[in-house]
Amino acid sequence: MMKTISAGLAALSLAVAIPAAAQLSNDESIIIATVENHHESDIALLETITNINSGTHNHAGVLQVAEVLMPQFAALGFDVEWIDQSAAGRAGHLFARREGNPQAPNILMIGHLDTVFEPESPFQTFTRDGDTAVGPGVTDNKGGVIVILSALRAMHAAGTLEGANVVVALTGDEEDAGDPLDVSRADLYAAGEWADVALGFEGLSVIDGRDYGVVARRSSNSWTLTTSAQSGHSSGIFSERAGYGAIYEMVRILDAFRSQLPEENLTYNVGFMAGGTPAELGEEALSASAVGKTNIIPDSAVARGDLRTISQDQTDRVAAAMQAIVDDHLPGSDARIEFAFRYPPMSPTEANRELLAQLNAINADMGLEAMEEFPPSRRGAADISFVAPLVDAALAGMGPNGAGSHADGESVDLNSMIRQAQRAAILMSRLSE
Ligand SMILES: [Zn+2]
Repeated sequence: MMKTISAGLAALSLAVAIPAAAQLSNDESIIIATVENHHESDIALLETITNINSGTHNHAGVLQVAEVLMPQFAALGFDVEWIDQSAAGRAGHLFARREGNPQAPNILMIGHLDTVFEPESPFQTFTRDGDTAVGPGVTDNKGGVIVILSALRAMHAAGTLEGANVVVALTGDEEDAGDPLDVSRADLYAAGEWADVALGFEGLSVIDGRDYGVVARRSSNSWTLTTSAQSGHSSGIFSERAGYGAIYEMVRILDAFRSQLPEENLTYNVGFMAGGTPAELGEEALSASAVGKTNIIPDSAVARGDLRTISQDQTDRVAAAMQAIVDDHLPGSDARIEFAFRYPPMSPTEANRELLAQLNAINADMGLEAMEEFPPSRRGAADISFVAPLVDAALAGMGPNGAGSHADGESVDLNSMIRQAQRAAILMSRLSE
């Protein structure tokens, strides 16, 4: 054991500048070496869990991935729990808990077991080419789960896990959260209430070879807009008697959204629409259909879209502005909008920035470049969004760097798992001191 650690330290001193490495404590040097020494076995475990299909709707597969991971957490002294989620139409969540010094902050580590790749997908297998691996979920989020385990194992080896209070929450339905959210996110909310600090192990943001820190993620919400009007012969359109029809009303609203609402960090896409006599939403509101005639004033139109914001204030304000536009009807028409608020925003708070500053102190001590803030407009929502409003401070993007997530050919930069696990372990150790 001692031999492998000193071999790891020797390799480290070649890799980083000596003065920087000297900033790390003994415990932290053990963390650095432990992560490196376990790299190949970490990759082997990543291969194992990647080759188990765990598409969100493959409940048996999600459970099977959890069953591989549970003994890994138990071996580090964690109490592991499988939380069945059949009440929300999903497999379940794996939670692992470990208590240390009551004075130390409570740290919540968030990842997920499921992937977007269901058993019908042609993309099922892990392959490795040097420092890159390809496979379904290798970055999103199985590589993130490996980073969590690797960081905890290194803390265990260094003795810093002993005093730490840690809950690991690995949801089984991150890619398609079960309904209702009150059920599917109940345990995550409870962990958020418990936690002081939340770390999200979704993929690391890298631009032009530089690592970025994620202090904010935008919310993710959706809306459904329906318009209605009296139908009639088209020759009467625009008259006081016949009105404007449901499609002009729909277009008025959407064009007012486009021209009146833009502001920084806000987007709202119209995903699809249909208008006619009648127009109707299809199954699960994922399609719309319409019939009509050129000489009939249409009586209905439907459209669905999203709404992504940086703060709850922005969500509330823009939703109210949308409502006001909707209510300003053309003659002879009516309209209503319904919002589904799903993921709240993780706002860029001062405390989140302070946590990134602590991570940057670690980067300096590790001889790594400082991480700047990643533009929040480029990150979507994730499970950490649910707990960000509940904790003192949160950082996302703590998982590995990869490419092509949610698409065939998803890959992971295996070396990024090393530095991410080292960063996380040292950050958690310093927070828990
Ligand atoms: Zn994910």
